[in-house]
Amino acid sequence: GATIGMVGGGQLGRMFAIAAMQMGYDVVVFCGSPDEPAGQVATRTVVGDLLDHAVVSQFAQQCQVITLEFENIPAETIRWCSEFAPTYPSHHVLATAQDRLVEKTTFRDAGLAVTPYAAVDSAAGVGEFAEQHGWPVIVKTARSGYDGKGQYRLDGQADAAAVPWESADAWIAEKWISFDREASVVVARSAAGEVRCFPPFENDHRNHILDVSFCPSTLSPAQQQLANSIATRAADVLQLVGVLCVEFFVVDAETILINEVAPRPHNSGHLTIEACHTSQFEQHVRAVCGLPLGSTELRVGGAAMANLLGDLWSVDGQHPSWDQALAVPSVSLHLYGKTDAKVGRKMGHLTATAGSASEAVQAVNQARESLI
Ligand code: ATP
Ligand code: MG
Ligand code: MG
Repeated sequence: GATIGMVGGGQLGRMFAIAAMQMGYDVVVFCGSPDEPAGQVATRTVVGDLLDHAVVSQFAQQCQVITLEFENIPAETIRWCSEFAPTYPSHHVLATAQDRLVEKTTFRDAGLAVTPYAAVDSAAGVGEFAEQHGWPVIVKTARSGYDGKGQYRLDGQADAAAVPWESADAWIAEKWISFDREASVVVARSAAGEVRCFPPFENDHRNHILDVSFCPSTLSPAQQQLANSIATRAADVLQLVGVLCVEFFVVDAETILINEVAPRPHNSGHLTIEACHTSQFEQHVRAVCGLPLGSTELRVGGAAMANLLGDLWSVDGQHPSWDQALAVPSVSLHLYGKTDAKVGRKMGHLTATAGSASEAVQAVNQARESLI
């Protein structure tokens, strides 16, 4: 069959490869080691440095289409790939999505509501920002952050001294949003311009890391429609091909702000594997391969996903016993094949389906609590 190239070896690449190979594609994964989660399941791997043009060429020459699983891959790697095969998302999308300042400015200029922000580089800069927007302020590295890494919540001027300003080239200050809830929309856009949204997921974070997602969300029909229309507009603004996740702060009945976007399948969309006719990974395959997009409808009353972080593993790396968790009806286990369990590291997830979202949340929490 045709060969899809996947740049990046993490769990998103792994679940993408599983979906693509089920559809008959070969998947060649470009990663740092064949032991990485996606490398383990790929048809084959190309191992090397993302900035080594010779290795990038060797990888890209094998592919009919190329995609990626992480927005922090160097845009130059993706630009180089695109000389060999259609590459989605493009290096332009990547350059936007890997810099919080560029990303927010792009959406703000397109008339989409984002969290108030400014570029800052010092405690004094944060002070000026706070004079305008008040405390708390959240300061983030403009580039390379994920899972809440490189973020500092500042409750007053004194806290600004704790930011390691020297450790990054560029920083962003954001107004702390006391949101009502968080939600996300995964939208797919094909090369032909066909667009389809999954129903919004509602997300609970713990320590700035996604903890539990569920669907249907508790958003009103009007809020769901608003979230879907913002996500569609965001995909159009970026001229995206593939799937895009738009993370939202839901402030009140009328106000929904974009927090950030990720031009790839997203942790909050993992429940689509069990809950939807088409998973977000299959949808991404369809979008980048120029196939018709699949139905995004839920085929269950409700579904919930709970992340399994390395915190649940013992100090010698032993995983918990799954027996009790898997005894909870309609709970599924996904493990990413990672052996190095660290606190805060995403090792896998559990999904539950049920008649309603609240029943599914209850089941997935019960299953996860049984691991402790
Ligand atoms: P990931 O890419 O893994 O989603 P990230 O490191 O890019 O994470 P963000 O999405 O910016 O981080 O922030 C992580 C979480 O921290 C948010 O989902 C939210 O719960 C909280 N957070 C971030 N920015 C703000 C803000 N301005 N106001 C309130 N909460 C925030
Ligand atoms: Mg992010
Ligand atoms: Mg985020």
